[in-house]
Amino acid sequence: MRMNDLRQIPSVDALLRHADIKVFRQEFGDALVVETLREKLTDFRNTYKSTSLIFSIPEFVKQVTTSLQEKTQITLLPVINATGVILHTNLGRAVLSDSAINHVEQISGGYSALEFNVESGGRGARSVHAHDILVRLTGAEDALVVNNNAAAVLLVLTVLARRKQVVISRGQLVEIGGGFRVPEVMKVSGARLVEVGTTNRVRLEDFEEALKNGAGLVMRAHASNFKIIGFTEEPELSDLVSLTHKHNALFIDDIGSGALIDTTQFGLSKEPLVQDSVTAGADIVCFSGDKLLGGPQAGIIVGKKELIARIKKHPLARAVRADKLCLAALEATLAHYLKGNALDNIPVWKMIALQPDDLQKRTIQWQKELGTGEVIPEVSTIGGGSLPGGTLPTFVLAIQAKQIDKALAQLRKNNPPIIGRIKDDRILFDPRTVLESEEQNLLNGIKRILLKETS
Ligand SMILES: *Cc1c(COP(=O)(O)O)cnc(C)c1O
Repeated sequence: MRMNDLRQIPSVDALLRHADIKVFRQEFGDALVVETLREKLTDFRNTYKSTSLIFSIPEFVKQVTTSLQEKTQITLLPVINATGVILHTNLGRAVLSDSAINHVEQISGGYSALEFNVESGGRGARSVHAHDILVRLTGAEDALVVNNNAAAVLLVLTVLARRKQVVISRGQLVEIGGGFRVPEVMKVSGARLVEVGTTNRVRLEDFEEALKNGAGLVMRAHASNFKIIGFTEEPELSDLVSLTHKHNALFIDDIGSGALIDTTQFGLSKEPLVQDSVTAGADIVCFSGDKLLGGPQAGIIVGKKELIARIKKHPLARAVRADKLCLAALEATLAHYLKGNALDNIPVWKMIALQPDDLQKRTIQWQKELGTGEVIPEVSTIGGGSLPGGTLPTFVLAIQAKQIDKALAQLRKNNPPIIGRIKDDRILFDPRTVLESEEQNLLNGIKRILLKETS
């Protein structure tokens, strides 16, 4: 056969009958295999024009395999978080509790009473799920769950603040990771923004003046991953709420994290509690489901019955409603708080509660098994915009790598990908955020990737 003979290239039909390709047809289906064969044959012909390649079946099969694998590659992969950032937004924030996972599994694998009243056999309301537990836990009159907290804030402002003046402190006009800018969301909702105070100081009188000038709402937004330290001043929440109500205006509190447990018991600074905002008299309180609450992505709105009723009726509420998997995970997560076993069952709180002694023991165990690295004191962080600057003492395993960026890239190629952090030319692995079930995979990955030069 002459090398530059186009007839050496087999047809798609002939290839489809080839034993190796038949295996692909089983696994990937005919449509995708035919498409890939055509693409790869075209590639071959194009290269062939200039280089006179010889068509080789094994080589061709290899290219087809790679292409089929790339096309069917799943992108939402599980990863091992060894960064020590507990609520890592890029790594999916809160890890769910076992009972939340089980409930999601049960609800996703079959039909459910999502909008069905089992007692009467008639139509039920989606909004009943998680409702009673939320009311009980927060002390609020009513509750509504939506897709995420950004949606919650947008919905609340759209319903309650449209064409009204909304007062907010200049220190709270922040951007919260991922393009959620408080002033922009307020504008989109149709609210008219009235900024008061300065970046670092705002007084009760500043709010009072705006309220006297006709503001209909006062909003507080947790400054999230941003903290002003030093010469700062802010009125007490209960004073601000009283003042707002004296002027017949509404008080809306976006507390971000949705802590239901006091963070100070872990040596952390005080993260606002949902219950405290309700007790202080806030008309509406919004927070995330997957930050310190430790549940699924969700936006939770609690507050006055009459206001929540109006919010529920708005068309936007339908557009941002929570799905059944979210509601299943949320219900199960909230049940831990009600039963008083949140600290023992919700991974976020279990990770926060881990003691340095135990973390040190675990890290020494890793060091022993790997036969390398140094165990050093470090800090883990909460992340997720909660407790800016708040850290927890930990121990990490620090491993030297010759070409650190290359080593990190290889760790990311592990199955599952391993995410560590760099400090002073070493890769740090923090046990606080590594689940027990992932530990062996982590150590095997490190062995294979970082220690292969020495073994
Ligand atoms: C995180 C956060 C949001 C956005 O919440 P998502 O659940 O991520 O949509 C809004 N406001 C504050 C104060 C936050 O901290």
